[in-house]
Amino acid sequence: MSALVIAEQDHTTLKAATLNTVTAALACDGEVHVLVVGANAAEAGQVAAQIAGVAKVLVADGASLADQLAENVAAQVLAMAGNYGHILFSATASGKNVAPRVAAKLDVAQVSDITKVVSCDTFERPIYAGNAIATVQSTDAKKVITVRTTGFDAAPALGGTAIVETLEAVSDSGKSSFVGREVTKNDRPELTAAKIIVSGGRALGSAEKFNEVMTPLADKLGAAIGASRAAVDAGYAPNDLQVGQTGKIVAPQLYIAAGISGAIQHLAGMKDSKLIVAINKDPEAPIFSVADYSLAADLFVAVPEICSSL
Ligand code: FAD
Repeated sequence: MSALVIAEQDHTTLKAATLNTVTAALACDGEVHVLVVGANAAEAGQVAAQIAGVAKVLVADGASLADQLAENVAAQVLAMAGNYGHILFSATASGKNVAPRVAAKLDVAQVSDITKVVSCDTFERPIYAGNAIATVQSTDAKKVITVRTTGFDAAPALGGTAIVETLEAVSDSGKSSFVGREVTKNDRPELTAAKIIVSGGRALGSAEKFNEVMTPLADKLGAAIGASRAAVDAGYAPNDLQVGQTGKIVAPQLYIAAGISGAIQHLAGMKDSKLIVAINKDPEAPIFSVADYSLAADLFVAVPEICSSL
């Protein structure tokens, strides 16, 4: 049986997480299909067809899927689940909303947040905020999996020549309806897809200082801005910038942490970053234990100096 990846898309483009999930699916099974659900999603289907390694793209296109309501998306996945041994979602808010519904209806145990495929039925996943790695084996005939995207390289977005089939969308479940959506407008890269992230902690002291110090650095580097939970809880930065166990899991090429102590819950969200630079005035700060470059300095001096040197 093949593996099915549930794509995340916004009608014309695919979310970057889908590419990492395809890599995980290819490790589960040689033949990978991608399901694109939505209304007027044909363009996103064509984008998916170009992903290297994907054999087939199925586009379920219809009004019931326009707003990606979890009940309807889950019904669409279930309608075709019989053909697949592995059904993979990105471990994003969207994937985590649908996958448990699919697993429950199939009466299988979901395998959550995998970071490695050991074999087609055995997977690794972090536990205890990433301090231990569990190896889990599923004996279920169908594996419903969420993929921690930072654990897998992105599949090349180009180079594939998958065939594209259009499916009839399932009818509306009637269990939920779309009321509205408030989308945060952000000119910066999305946190989970950014190549560079500059993150600020409690040491910034206020929302004004957070913006005054972190924004110019982010602007110079073309980076996304992140924050520790302490900075978010204190109102220095909005909730959706939080990095960590209860925030976003990120693994950019470069992560700069300024005035962040390095609590395990923060490290759980960023320690897989390729290059970590930490600025902290306390030379004993735990963040230095994961940093590639450690700068024991006052961030209010160091960050503007770095900025002016760029
Ligand atoms: P602090 O720990 O107060 O550290 C501030 C640091 O700034 C210190 O190291 C200090 O030396 C340094 N500093 C002070 N002044 C300066 C200066 N002028 N220049 C340079 N350095 C300076 N936290 C997260 O971040 N993300 C999560 O997702 C998360 N989830 C959690 C989930 C649970 C269940 C729990 C219990 C906690 C969670 N936390 C999370 C909170 C976490 O335990 C820490 O409290 C938090 O990460 C601390 O944030 P901080 O490093 O900004 O602040």
